[in-house]
Amino acid sequence: MSEIQTTHYLCIGCPLGCRLEVAEDLEQHAIVEVRGFSCRRGRDYAIQEHTAPRRIVTTTVAIERARWARLPVRSSAPAPKAAVSEICAALRSVHLSAPVKMGDIIVRNVLGYDVDIIAARDMPEVQT
Ligand code: SF4
Repeated sequence: MSEIQTTHYLCIGCPLGCRLEVAEDLEQHAIVEVRGFSCRRGRDYAIQEHTAPRRIVTTTVAIERARWARLPVRSSAPAPKAAVSEICAALRSVHLSAPVKMGDIIVRNVLGYDVDIIAARDMPEVQT
């Protein structure tokens, strides 16, 4: 008989914060049941989190001719969780020049992960 392992997750889909459970057949490497969700979104989240978790990337990049030396950026959609450090490392080599508008694409399809890195705020040019 296969061993069933249950893993717990907290749904972040809305303020209800449902406590999710994913039961996996360890021999078959297959999800056999998802419990605790109150809507389809939560069920999908549990499966995604269990099989291929993703996260929004948030960091800063260097910018010149601006009031601040760093511009906050984020990914346009969740990226693979395992790739977040690699993406942040790649963004260390990005150097921008003001002005930048919130939502501007800073890096398109970063490292081929099918998400863009976008500006999280306006950064006007400062005359020196
Ligand atoms: S399962 Fe649905 S209702 Fe529950 S926290 Fe997630 S999104 Fe909200």
